Amino acid sequence: MPELPEVETIRRDLDKEVVGRRIKTVEVKGERSVRRHKDPKEFCTRLEGHKITGIRRAGKYLLIDLDGDEVLVVHLGMSGQLQRAKGPKEPLDKHTHVIITFTQGGELRFVDPRTFGELFVTGANVEAEVPELDHLGFDPIDEVMSWGRFGQLLADRHGQLKTLLMDQKFVAGIGNVYSDEILFAAGLRYDRMSDSLSAQEIRRLYRAMVETLTEAIKYRGSSLADEQYRDLFGATGDFQGQHQVYDRAGQACRRCRNPVVRVKVNGRSAYLCEHCQI
Ligand SMILES: [Zn+2]
Repeated sequence: MPELPEVETIRRDLDKEVVGRRIKTVEVKGERSVRRHKDPKEFCTRLEGHKITGIRRAGKYLLIDLDGDEVLVVHLGMSGQLQRAKGPKEPLDKHTHVIITFTQGGELRFVDPRTFGELFVTGANVEAEVPELDHLGFDPIDEVMSWGRFGQLLADRHGQLKTLLMDQKFVAGIGNVYSDEILFAAGLRYDRMSDSLSAQEIRRLYRAMVETLTEAIKYRGSSLADEQYRDLFGATGDFQGQHQVYDRAGQACRRCRNPVVRVKVNGRSAYLCEHCQI
């Protein structure tokens, strides 16, 4: 599932590619992708004729601002992709569910093989209308926080670090892949309790979080074995080659050469080096 670095990569590309464009027509081929609307026609009507004025990110959600105080919200789910296309002559992926055509020419397509992703239009007060975006935690890239404040937030919770990093109400945008990479970079185990960290460990965790996510954005995100994450132009990310522990069970730790191990946490896999992480 795309996490902060992948969604941020798409946000930056959209910012260059579609801001200032006006939506001419919208075609819905897969109704499940617009399931929050009572029918696809309502979804299309709220978009057609509007100009895109900006692109924001809230955790793993993309917020496409439109004139007239409307916001198109995009959640990529497990396998959703936004694709830039020159026009209708460009071959259509068979999992294309929504096609947005601009008056200036060109298209933005939503492709999603597993259909967990979705698009919907809300008013400008997004937090009030979308329960998932209400009470979202701080953004580790956009919001600069003192490590003292971060330590206070950790101490206020009594939770295992991996579970807490993936809790969108605590910090927004981190999922299964980057929580493992951040904890390796910090030298901390997934099951350390958040209120047990020393001042030095709090600083290490904060720095590891910011640096890992920033580095991953620089590499345009991670495409995992399924290669379902693609950028706006259909290219995979490059950060998977930099992964230290995620999906590397049995392989040598890049730091100490002991094998990386996989454990189950809340029904999902977590990867760690038991020598480098305490
Ligand atoms: Zn190691």
